[in-house]
Amino acid sequence: MFEGLNLSLGVGGSEDPEAVQNSGATSRPEVEKVIIVGSGPAGWSAAIYAARADLHPLLLTGNELGGQVAITTEVENYPGFPEGLTGPELVEKMRAQAERFGAAVEIDYVTEIDVNGRPFGVTTAGGRSYRAQALIIATGASPRKLGVPGEERLTGRGVSYCATCDGFFFRGKEIVVVGGGDSALEEGLFLTKFATKVRVVHRRDQLRAGAVLKHRAEANPKIDFLWNSVVTRIDGDTKVQSVTLKNVVTGEVKELPTDGVFVYVGHLPNNQLFAGKLAMDEQGYVITDKLMRTSVPGVFAAGEIQDPRYRQVATSAGQGVQAALEAQKYLDELEAHGGAGQAA
Ligand code: NAP
Repeated sequence: MFEGLNLSLGVGGSEDPEAVQNSGATSRPEVEKVIIVGSGPAGWSAAIYAARADLHPLLLTGNELGGQVAITTEVENYPGFPEGLTGPELVEKMRAQAERFGAAVEIDYVTEIDVNGRPFGVTTAGGRSYRAQALIIATGASPRKLGVPGEERLTGRGVSYCATCDGFFFRGKEIVVVGGGDSALEEGLFLTKFATKVRVVHRRDQLRAGAVLKHRAEANPKIDFLWNSVVTRIDGDTKVQSVTLKNVVTGEVKELPTDGVFVYVGHLPNNQLFAGKLAMDEQGYVITDKLMRTSVPGVFAAGEIQDPRYRQVATSAGQGVQAALEAQKYLDELEAHGGAGQAA
Protein backbone atom coordinates (compact mmCIF):
# COMPACT_ATOMS: atom_id res chain seq x y z
CA MET A 1 0.00 0.00 0.00
CA PHE A 2 2.85 2.38 0.66
CA GLU A 3 4.95 1.40 -2.31
CA GLY A 4 3.75 3.59 -5.14
CA LEU A 5 1.18 6.26 -5.58
CA ASN A 6 -1.92 4.79 -7.20
CA LEU A 7 -4.81 7.17 -7.23
CA SER A 8 -6.74 5.18 -9.78
CA LEU A 9 -9.74 3.47 -8.35
CA GLY A 10 -10.04 1.04 -10.91
CA VAL A 11 -10.48 -1.74 -13.25
CA GLY A 12 -7.97 -0.79 -15.90
CA GLY A 13 -7.91 2.72 -14.41
CA SER A 14 -11.59 3.29 -15.09
CA GLU A 15 -11.80 6.13 -12.57
CA ASP A 16 -10.62 9.48 -13.86
CA PRO A 17 -7.81 10.50 -11.46
CA GLU A 18 -8.76 14.13 -12.01
CA ALA A 19 -12.12 13.36 -10.48
CA VAL A 20 -10.51 12.09 -7.28
CA GLN A 21 -10.41 15.25 -5.21
CA ASN A 22 -9.35 15.94 -1.68
CA SER A 23 -12.23 16.95 0.50
CA GLY A 24 -10.03 17.42 3.49
CA ALA A 25 -7.52 19.67 4.97
CA THR A 26 -8.53 23.12 3.80
CA SER A 27 -9.62 24.33 7.22
CA ARG A 28 -8.92 21.77 9.86
CA PRO A 29 -8.80 22.20 13.63
CA GLU A 30 -5.39 22.50 15.28
CA VAL A 31 -5.99 19.14 16.94
CA GLU A 32 -8.17 16.58 15.18
CA LYS A 33 -10.46 14.41 17.23
CA VAL A 34 -9.69 11.37 15.14
CA ILE A 35 -7.49 10.64 12.16
CA ILE A 36 -8.08 7.47 10.16
CA VAL A 37 -5.10 6.10 8.25
CA GLY A 38 -6.05 4.01 5.22
CA SER A 39 -8.91 3.89 2.71
CA GLY A 40 -9.96 0.24 2.51
CA PRO A 41 -13.31 -0.98 3.87
CA ALA A 42 -12.09 -0.68 7.48
CA GLY A 43 -11.07 2.94 6.99
CA TRP A 44 -14.27 3.98 5.24
CA SER A 45 -16.59 2.31 7.71
CA ALA A 46 -14.65 3.88 10.60
CA ALA A 47 -15.03 7.24 8.83
CA ILE A 48 -18.80 6.77 8.36
CA TYR A 49 -19.33 5.98 12.05
CA ALA A 50 -16.93 8.63 13.33
CA ALA A 51 -18.56 11.25 11.10
CA ARG A 52 -22.04 10.32 12.25
CA ALA A 53 -20.80 10.68 15.84
CA ASP A 54 -19.78 14.28 15.06
CA LEU A 55 -16.09 13.53 15.44
CA HIS A 56 -15.34 15.23 12.08
CA PRO A 57 -12.80 12.56 11.14
CA LEU A 58 -9.96 13.14 8.72
CA LEU A 59 -9.17 10.12 6.56
CA LEU A 60 -5.73 9.93 4.97
CA THR A 61 -6.06 7.56 2.05
CA GLY A 62 -2.59 6.05 1.72
CA ASN A 63 -1.02 5.33 -1.63
CA GLU A 64 -3.67 3.09 -3.07
CA LEU A 65 -7.10 4.57 -2.75
CA GLY A 66 -9.47 1.85 -1.64
CA GLY A 67 -6.80 -0.67 -0.70
CA GLN A 68 -7.00 -4.23 -1.95
CA VAL A 69 -10.72 -4.27 -2.66
CA ALA A 70 -10.13 -1.51 -5.22
CA ILE A 71 -8.19 -4.00 -7.33
CA THR A 72 -10.74 -6.78 -6.88
CA THR A 73 -12.72 -7.68 -9.96
CA GLU A 74 -16.01 -8.68 -8.41
CA VAL A 75 -17.28 -8.55 -4.85
CA GLU A 76 -20.09 -11.06 -4.50
CA ASN A 77 -20.19 -11.70 -0.77
CA TYR A 78 -20.62 -8.24 0.72
CA PRO A 79 -24.15 -8.12 2.17
CA GLY A 80 -26.64 -5.85 0.47
CA PHE A 81 -25.44 -6.34 -3.09
CA PRO A 82 -27.08 -9.55 -4.30
CA GLU A 83 -25.90 -9.04 -7.89
CA GLY A 84 -22.33 -8.29 -6.77
CA LEU A 85 -20.38 -5.19 -7.77
CA THR A 86 -16.83 -4.35 -8.70
CA GLY A 87 -14.31 -3.48 -6.00
CA PRO A 88 -13.89 0.09 -7.31
CA GLU A 89 -17.65 0.60 -7.31
CA LEU A 90 -17.86 -0.53 -3.69
CA VAL A 91 -15.02 1.79 -2.67
CA GLU A 92 -16.70 4.74 -4.41
CA LYS A 93 -19.95 4.02 -2.55
CA MET A 94 -18.15 3.76 0.79
CA ARG A 95 -16.31 6.99 0.17
CA ALA A 96 -19.48 8.82 -0.89
CA GLN A 97 -21.22 7.58 2.25
CA ALA A 98 -18.38 8.78 4.51
CA GLU A 99 -18.27 12.19 2.84
CA ARG A 100 -22.03 12.54 2.98
CA PHE A 101 -21.75 12.57 6.78
CA GLY A 102 -18.87 15.02 6.81
CA ALA A 103 -15.72 12.92 6.82
CA ALA A 104 -12.79 14.80 5.28
CA VAL A 105 -10.64 12.86 2.83
CA GLU A 106 -7.04 13.67 1.99
CA ILE A 107 -5.29 11.88 -0.89
CA ASP A 108 -2.00 11.60 0.91
CA TYR A 109 -0.03 8.96 2.71
CA VAL A 110 1.39 8.90 6.15
CA THR A 111 5.15 8.74 6.48
CA GLU A 112 5.39 8.90 10.26
CA ILE A 113 3.27 8.66 13.35
CA ASP A 114 4.26 9.83 16.81
CA VAL A 115 2.38 8.04 19.54
CA ASN A 116 4.69 8.96 22.40
CA GLY A 117 3.25 12.35 23.20
CA ARG A 118 -0.37 13.59 23.35
CA PRO A 119 -1.96 14.62 21.09
CA PHE A 120 -0.55 12.09 18.63
CA GLY A 121 1.43 13.32 15.64
CA VAL A 122 0.91 12.35 12.00
CA THR A 123 3.22 13.43 9.17
CA THR A 124 2.42 12.89 5.50
CA ALA A 125 4.30 12.63 2.23
CA GLY A 126 2.35 15.68 1.09
CA GLY A 127 4.28 17.69 3.69
CA ARG A 128 1.49 18.10 6.21
CA SER A 129 1.66 17.57 9.95
CA TYR A 130 -1.43 16.80 11.96
CA ARG A 131 -2.19 16.24 15.60
CA ALA A 132 -5.01 14.05 16.81
CA GLN A 133 -6.52 12.88 20.06
CA ALA A 134 -7.22 9.43 18.64
CA LEU A 135 -5.96 7.40 15.71
CA ILE A 136 -7.57 4.58 13.78
CA ILE A 137 -5.03 2.54 11.86
CA ALA A 138 -6.45 0.81 8.78
CA THR A 139 -3.44 0.43 6.52
CA GLY A 140 -4.34 -3.08 5.38
CA ALA A 141 -2.02 -5.53 3.71
CA SER A 142 -0.22 -5.84 0.37
CA PRO A 143 0.29 -8.78 -1.97
CA ARG A 144 3.09 -11.13 -0.97
CA LYS A 145 5.74 -11.61 -3.65
CA LEU A 146 7.18 -14.95 -4.73
CA GLY A 147 10.75 -13.77 -4.25
CA VAL A 148 12.11 -15.71 -7.24
CA PRO A 149 14.65 -14.57 -9.86
CA GLY A 150 13.04 -12.56 -12.65
CA GLU A 151 9.96 -11.55 -10.65
CA GLU A 152 11.00 -8.01 -9.84
CA ARG A 153 12.63 -7.31 -13.20
CA LEU A 154 9.57 -8.48 -15.13
CA THR A 155 6.93 -6.84 -12.93
CA GLY A 156 4.81 -4.76 -15.30
CA ARG A 157 6.25 -6.80 -18.18
CA GLY A 158 4.07 -9.84 -17.72
CA VAL A 159 4.35 -10.30 -13.95
CA SER A 160 1.32 -8.83 -12.19
CA TYR A 161 -0.47 -8.84 -8.86
CA CYS A 162 -3.69 -7.34 -10.23
CA ALA A 163 -5.82 -9.17 -12.77
CA THR A 164 -8.38 -6.39 -12.90
CA CYS A 165 -5.67 -3.88 -13.83
CA ASP A 166 -3.70 -5.98 -16.29
CA GLY A 167 -5.93 -8.82 -17.50
CA PHE A 168 -6.95 -6.88 -20.58
CA PHE A 169 -3.39 -7.04 -21.93
CA PHE A 170 -3.52 -10.84 -22.06
CA ARG A 171 -6.24 -11.27 -24.66
CA GLY A 172 -5.51 -14.43 -26.64
CA LYS A 173 -2.50 -15.26 -24.46
CA GLU A 174 -1.57 -18.02 -22.02
CA ILE A 175 -1.18 -17.20 -18.36
CA VAL A 176 0.11 -18.77 -15.17
CA VAL A 177 -1.64 -17.97 -11.88
CA VAL A 178 0.31 -18.82 -8.73
CA GLY A 179 -1.55 -19.76 -5.52
CA GLY A 180 -4.39 -21.96 -4.36
CA GLY A 181 -6.53 -19.55 -2.32
CA ASP A 182 -9.71 -17.62 -3.09
CA SER A 183 -7.79 -14.79 -4.76
CA ALA A 184 -5.95 -17.11 -7.15
CA LEU A 185 -9.17 -18.76 -8.27
CA GLU A 186 -11.34 -15.66 -8.37
CA GLU A 187 -8.80 -13.70 -10.38
CA GLY A 188 -7.91 -16.80 -12.44
CA LEU A 189 -11.58 -17.10 -13.40
CA PHE A 190 -11.65 -13.42 -14.35
CA LEU A 191 -8.56 -13.90 -16.51
CA THR A 192 -10.32 -16.59 -18.58
CA LYS A 193 -12.27 -13.70 -20.14
CA PHE A 194 -9.07 -12.71 -21.90
CA ALA A 195 -6.63 -15.60 -21.89
CA THR A 196 -6.90 -18.77 -23.94
CA LYS A 197 -5.42 -20.82 -21.09
CA VAL A 198 -4.98 -20.16 -17.37
CA ARG A 199 -2.69 -22.59 -15.53
CA VAL A 200 -3.04 -22.46 -11.75
CA VAL A 201 0.23 -23.46 -10.12
CA HIS A 202 -0.31 -24.58 -6.54
CA ARG A 203 2.29 -25.90 -4.13
CA ARG A 204 -0.03 -28.60 -2.72
CA ASP A 205 -2.60 -31.00 -4.17
CA GLN A 206 -5.51 -29.45 -2.23
CA LEU A 207 -6.87 -25.97 -2.80
CA ARG A 208 -7.19 -23.54 0.07
CA ALA A 209 -10.02 -21.72 -1.75
CA GLY A 210 -13.66 -22.13 -0.71
CA ALA A 211 -16.10 -24.51 -2.38
CA VAL A 212 -17.91 -22.05 -4.68
CA LEU A 213 -14.76 -20.80 -6.40
CA LYS A 214 -13.23 -24.27 -6.41
CA HIS A 215 -16.20 -25.76 -8.27
CA ARG A 216 -16.35 -22.86 -10.71
CA ALA A 217 -12.64 -23.10 -11.51
CA GLU A 218 -12.72 -26.88 -11.87
CA ALA A 219 -15.64 -26.59 -14.28
CA ASN A 220 -13.95 -23.96 -16.45
CA PRO A 221 -12.39 -25.56 -19.54
CA LYS A 222 -9.79 -22.79 -19.84
CA ILE A 223 -8.35 -23.54 -16.37
CA ASP A 224 -5.79 -26.28 -15.72
CA PHE A 225 -4.19 -27.07 -12.38
CA LEU A 226 -0.54 -27.87 -11.90
CA TRP A 227 -0.42 -29.50 -8.47
CA ASN A 228 2.47 -29.80 -6.02
CA SER A 229 4.37 -27.23 -8.05
CA VAL A 230 6.22 -24.02 -7.32
CA VAL A 231 7.62 -21.35 -9.62
CA THR A 232 11.37 -21.15 -9.06
CA ARG A 233 12.19 -18.51 -11.69
CA ILE A 234 10.58 -16.30 -14.30
CA ASP A 235 12.37 -15.70 -17.61
CA GLY A 236 12.08 -13.35 -20.56
CA ASP A 237 14.15 -10.59 -22.17
CA THR A 238 11.80 -7.64 -22.21
CA LYS A 239 8.64 -9.52 -21.22
CA VAL A 240 7.72 -12.81 -19.61
CA GLN A 241 8.38 -15.79 -21.86
CA SER A 242 8.50 -18.75 -19.46
CA VAL A 243 8.50 -19.93 -15.88
CA THR A 244 10.55 -22.69 -14.35
CA LEU A 245 8.43 -25.07 -12.29
CA LYS A 246 9.57 -27.53 -9.67
CA ASN A 247 7.41 -30.42 -8.57
CA VAL A 248 7.88 -30.46 -4.80
CA VAL A 249 6.97 -34.18 -4.56
CA THR A 250 9.01 -35.68 -7.41
CA GLY A 251 11.69 -32.98 -7.64
CA GLU A 252 11.12 -32.73 -11.40
CA VAL A 253 12.06 -29.35 -12.89
CA LYS A 254 10.59 -28.11 -16.19
CA GLU A 255 10.24 -24.93 -18.17
CA LEU A 256 6.73 -23.81 -19.13
CA PRO A 257 6.29 -21.17 -21.85
CA THR A 258 3.81 -18.47 -20.75
CA ASP A 259 2.95 -14.86 -21.56
CA GLY A 260 2.08 -13.78 -18.04
CA VAL A 261 2.41 -14.64 -14.35
CA PHE A 262 -0.26 -13.48 -11.90
CA VAL A 263 0.83 -13.93 -8.30
CA TYR A 264 -1.74 -14.57 -5.54
CA VAL A 265 0.18 -16.09 -2.66
CA GLY A 266 -1.25 -14.15 0.27
CA HIS A 267 -0.51 -10.82 1.87
CA LEU A 268 1.82 -8.98 4.21
CA PRO A 269 0.54 -6.36 6.67
CA ASN A 270 1.43 -2.75 5.85
CA ASN A 271 3.13 -2.18 9.18
CA GLN A 272 6.17 -0.08 8.26
CA LEU A 273 4.88 2.92 10.22
CA PHE A 274 4.42 1.05 13.45
CA ALA A 275 7.74 -0.69 14.12
CA GLY A 276 8.76 -0.01 17.71
CA LYS A 277 5.59 2.03 18.27
CA LEU A 278 2.72 -0.46 18.42
CA ALA A 279 2.93 -4.07 19.62
CA MET A 280 2.89 -6.55 16.73
CA ASP A 281 2.77 -10.33 16.55
CA GLU A 282 5.52 -12.47 15.04
CA GLN A 283 3.95 -12.14 11.56
CA GLY A 284 3.94 -8.35 11.81
CA TYR A 285 0.22 -7.83 12.42
CA VAL A 286 -0.64 -5.04 14.87
CA ILE A 287 -2.03 -6.61 18.03
CA THR A 288 -5.48 -5.46 19.11
CA ASP A 289 -7.86 -6.59 21.83
CA LYS A 290 -11.58 -7.23 21.30
CA LEU A 291 -12.22 -3.49 21.45
CA MET A 292 -9.76 -2.88 18.58
CA ARG A 293 -7.37 -1.18 21.02
CA THR A 294 -3.67 -1.39 20.23
CA SER A 295 -0.88 -1.33 22.81
CA VAL A 296 -1.15 2.49 22.92
CA PRO A 297 -4.33 3.92 24.50
CA GLY A 298 -6.14 6.09 21.98
CA VAL A 299 -4.72 4.22 18.99
CA PHE A 300 -7.14 1.71 17.46
CA ALA A 301 -6.61 -0.64 14.52
CA ALA A 302 -9.04 -2.34 12.15
CA GLY A 303 -8.97 -4.51 9.05
CA GLU A 304 -6.11 -6.52 7.65
CA ILE A 305 -3.36 -4.64 9.47
CA GLN A 306 -4.54 -6.50 12.58
CA ASP A 307 -6.48 -9.46 11.15
CA PRO A 308 -4.56 -12.36 9.63
CA ARG A 309 -7.57 -14.66 9.93
CA TYR A 310 -10.80 -13.41 8.28
CA ARG A 311 -9.64 -10.72 5.83
CA GLN A 312 -13.05 -10.24 4.22
CA VAL A 313 -14.50 -6.93 3.08
CA ALA A 314 -17.39 -7.44 5.50
CA THR A 315 -15.19 -8.29 8.49
CA SER A 316 -12.84 -5.39 7.81
CA ALA A 317 -15.81 -3.05 7.54
CA GLY A 318 -17.16 -4.41 10.83
CA GLN A 319 -13.84 -3.92 12.56
CA GLY A 320 -13.74 -0.34 11.28
CA VAL A 321 -17.13 0.22 12.92
CA GLN A 322 -15.88 -1.24 16.20
CA ALA A 323 -12.76 0.95 16.11
CA ALA A 324 -14.82 4.10 15.51
CA LEU A 325 -17.25 3.30 18.32
CA GLU A 326 -14.37 2.62 20.71
CA ALA A 327 -12.56 5.78 19.62
CA GLN A 328 -15.72 7.73 20.34
CA LYS A 329 -15.92 6.18 23.81
CA TYR A 330 -12.26 6.93 24.41
CA LEU A 331 -12.76 10.58 23.41
CA ASP A 332 -15.81 10.87 25.68
CA GLU A 333 -13.74 9.61 28.59
CA LEU A 334 -10.90 11.91 27.66
CA GLU A 335 -13.26 14.88 27.75
CA ALA A 336 -14.74 13.73 31.05
CA HIS A 337 -11.21 13.74 32.46
CA GLY A 338 -10.44 17.23 31.25
CA GLY A 339 -9.02 16.40 27.81
CA ALA A 340 -5.58 15.55 29.14
CA GLY A 341 -5.19 12.66 26.73
CA GLN A 342 -4.57 10.06 29.38
CA ALA A 343 -7.71 7.90 29.13
CA ALA A 344 -6.78 4.22 29.02
P1 NAP B 1 -4.57 -17.04 1.09
O1 NAP B 1 -5.92 -17.55 1.45
O2 NAP B 1 -3.57 -16.79 2.17
O3 NAP B 1 -3.96 -18.06 0.04
C1 NAP B 1 -2.63 -17.92 -0.42
C2 NAP B 1 -2.31 -19.09 -1.31
O4 NAP B 1 -0.97 -18.94 -1.78
C3 NAP B 1 -2.39 -20.45 -0.60
O5 NAP B 1 -2.93 -21.40 -1.45
C4 NAP B 1 -0.92 -20.73 -0.29
O6 NAP B 1 -0.62 -22.12 -0.31
C5 NAP B 1 -0.21 -20.08 -1.46
N1 NAP B 1 1.14 -19.64 -1.12
C6 NAP B 1 1.54 -18.89 -0.06
N2 NAP B 1 2.87 -18.64 -0.13
C7 NAP B 1 3.30 -19.23 -1.26
C8 NAP B 1 4.56 -19.32 -1.90
N3 NAP B 1 5.65 -18.73 -1.39
N4 NAP B 1 4.66 -20.02 -3.06
C9 NAP B 1 3.57 -20.60 -3.59
N5 NAP B 1 2.34 -20.55 -3.05
C10 NAP B 1 2.22 -19.87 -1.90
O7 NAP B 1 -4.64 -15.65 0.30
P2 NAP B 1 -5.79 -15.10 -0.69
O8 NAP B 1 -6.21 -16.11 -1.65
O9 NAP B 1 -5.24 -13.83 -1.21
O10 NAP B 1 -6.99 -14.79 0.28
C11 NAP B 1 -6.82 -13.86 1.37
C12 NAP B 1 -8.11 -13.76 2.16
O11 NAP B 1 -9.09 -13.11 1.37
C13 NAP B 1 -8.69 -15.12 2.51
O12 NAP B 1 -9.26 -15.04 3.79
C14 NAP B 1 -9.75 -15.34 1.47
O13 NAP B 1 -10.81 -16.17 1.91
C15 NAP B 1 -10.22 -13.91 1.22
N6 NAP B 1 -10.76 -13.79 -0.15
C16 NAP B 1 -12.06 -14.12 -0.33
C17 NAP B 1 -12.61 -14.06 -1.59
C18 NAP B 1 -14.04 -14.47 -1.79
O14 NAP B 1 -14.65 -14.91 -0.85
N7 NAP B 1 -14.60 -14.33 -2.96
C19 NAP B 1 -11.84 -13.65 -2.69
C20 NAP B 1 -10.51 -13.32 -2.47
C21 NAP B 1 -9.97 -13.42 -1.19
P3 NAP B 1 -1.17 -23.10 0.85
O15 NAP B 1 -2.62 -23.31 0.53
O16 NAP B 1 -0.34 -24.31 0.67
O17 NAP B 1 -0.92 -22.39 2.15
